[in-house]
Amino acid sequence: MKELNSTTMDILRETCRDAGLRLTQQRLSVFQEVLGSHDHPTAETIHGRLRRTAPTLSLDTVYRTLALLERCGLVHRVLDPGGGDRFDPVTDGHTHVVCRRCGRIDDLPVPALGPGGLPEATHWGRVERRHVVYYGVCKACLAEPRH
Ligand SMILES: [Zn+2]
Ligand SMILES: [Zn+2]
Repeated sequence: MKELNSTTMDILRETCRDAGLRLTQQRLSVFQEVLGSHDHPTAETIHGRLRRTAPTLSLDTVYRTLALLERCGLVHRVLDPGGGDRFDPVTDGHTHVVCRRCGRIDDLPVPALGPGGLPEATHWGRVERRHVVYYGVCKACLAEPRH
């Protein structure tokens, strides 16, 4: 499990205080799990991983904790084309690629679009963050015979 640095801990404490919540051990374990996960897990996946060590942790607590993390900007919600939400601790507006066979979501480094990596779509307004999703077939699926 990933150790949280003091800046992250400060943000968590502040976020919980603002929301009128205590930073409980359960919430902390959800924070640690998602911040150390780079496979874009769903709330159910995080719940499943934590259940081994925290059998009393409810899925509801996981959902609410993730929503809290999203609100304070520590995780981003990634829309899963198969339905449901995935969570991503990398919040720098990177690009995703989705395997249309197995549904895995990976980060895909692409060249920046311009200053700040954002298009200057002033005719539209102000573009503040980028979330581009590419679709394809991952290596593991390509290696499998088609059915
Ligand atoms: Zn795949
Ligand atoms: Zn990502």
